[in-house]
Amino acid sequence: MIDLAFLKGSSFVVLGLARSGLATARALTAAGVGCIAWDDNAASRAAAVAAGVALADPASIDWSRMTALVISPGIPSHLPVPHPVAAAARAAGKNIICDVELLARAAPKASFVAITGTNGKSTTTALIGHILSQAGVRCEVGGNIGRGALDLGMLGEGGVYVLELSSYQLELLETFRANIAVWLNVTPDHIDRHGDMAGYVAAKENIFARQQAGDCAVIGIDDEPSRMVHDRISARPGVVAVPVALDRPVAGGVSFRAGRLIDADGYAVDFSDVPTLPGDHNAQNAACAWAACRWLDVPRERIVQGLRSYPGLPHRQERVASVGNVVYINDSKATNAEATARALSSYHDIYWILGGQAKEGGVAPLASYFDRIRHAFLIGEATDLFAGQLEGKLPYSRCGDLQSALDAAHLRAQREGGGEAVVLLSPACASWDQWKSYEHRGDAFRAMARALPGAQRLGMAA
Ligand code: ADP
Repeated sequence: MIDLAFLKGSSFVVLGLARSGLATARALTAAGVGCIAWDDNAASRAAAVAAGVALADPASIDWSRMTALVISPGIPSHLPVPHPVAAAARAAGKNIICDVELLARAAPKASFVAITGTNGKSTTTALIGHILSQAGVRCEVGGNIGRGALDLGMLGEGGVYVLELSSYQLELLETFRANIAVWLNVTPDHIDRHGDMAGYVAAKENIFARQQAGDCAVIGIDDEPSRMVHDRISARPGVVAVPVALDRPVAGGVSFRAGRLIDADGYAVDFSDVPTLPGDHNAQNAACAWAACRWLDVPRERIVQGLRSYPGLPHRQERVASVGNVVYINDSKATNAEATARALSSYHDIYWILGGQAKEGGVAPLASYFDRIRHAFLIGEATDLFAGQLEGKLPYSRCGDLQSALDAAHLRAQREGGGEAVVLLSPACASWDQWKSYEHRGDAFRAMARALPGAQRLGMAA
């Protein structure tokens, strides 16, 4: 836990008591700092009380005695409508910050690697954390992934915090400075919270705010808004911008293509046989991780070792089991067509399990990958919609639930699957029609796949 004793004498309102907010309230309370906590959800309030956190009805807050509001990134402080507590804080002239800001103030001697982007944040964060720990660098990994910022261990000089930061968190920083800022990509997302695409990009661009001479900005430049960000940042004096691009040499940068990267000095790395980093998208993540770790002076051979031993994250093209030559892959995190496209582009001979609660457009945007699919197995609410979209293009079966779909896919793949066949759960749908979350759905798939007759367990996740 982060030591917040330096804040003694101040008082904070903590709004939102899920993972990051609860960690904040606990760290403030443990340090003897004034803390008034609230969550609109009764279950979260009960969990906070059980953790020793004092609650107070926000209506009773005397804002004149408060230092600032620490808000959870999931709660709107501005758009589309500010939460009433955020509005009250602002009306009282109080600053609104997030947990990462307190971490930055608590650990001024440590270095910070911050990672943002519309896609690939968690993977790149976990990958950088893995490479650094393998290389013997003292680091703590968290933020929007895993542990909340204030649940991390204290680090001093030489220690590195590796933090996944969303646009919501980036808007709520005041003094935080990223020694290395990693910007992966940007496509329209969370527009309701940022007003428009320009607002979303501007919120994300805060990752470079307060960077100083000697700091590094690693920027993926494969989409137009990101290229413009690169142009802006590279024009700044002092900060070194390292561009990262698909399949083309970039001066002073890193280029990549599925399983390969070439750095600024022409040093080439081939990790195409590493099963936990398939596809161009993961090559982008690996290339950005490479640039960040090189800036931290991690020797190349150690970075290569880290890339090669990266265990992967659960639910993201996670190889969970094999039976004979067929590999069973859990990509439950793919809750929309764009994410599923990444998985479909990574394999051939796919026995594809999909469905759940459909997103707009369904699977129509995936038509260019259909020639890789041997058979589709439909589950959940989206069955009729997807059957209509696949009709005449792909053989499919209506399976109802995940277990039936897996059984059917397993039988077919074992009967006819060739050397590279995969049974892939990549639903292109939200999970809420049949599951509590995408994690719940993916955990169930992993357990079911490992229970198949003759299954060999793959991967580390339980
Ligand atoms: P995030 O934390 O930004 O949601 P993750 O690392 O959890 O990203 O990956 C989520 C999904 O996004 C993956 O399953 C994959 O489909 C897709 N993805 C991962 N990396 C990239 C990338 N660099 N570019 C585009 N899509 C990606």
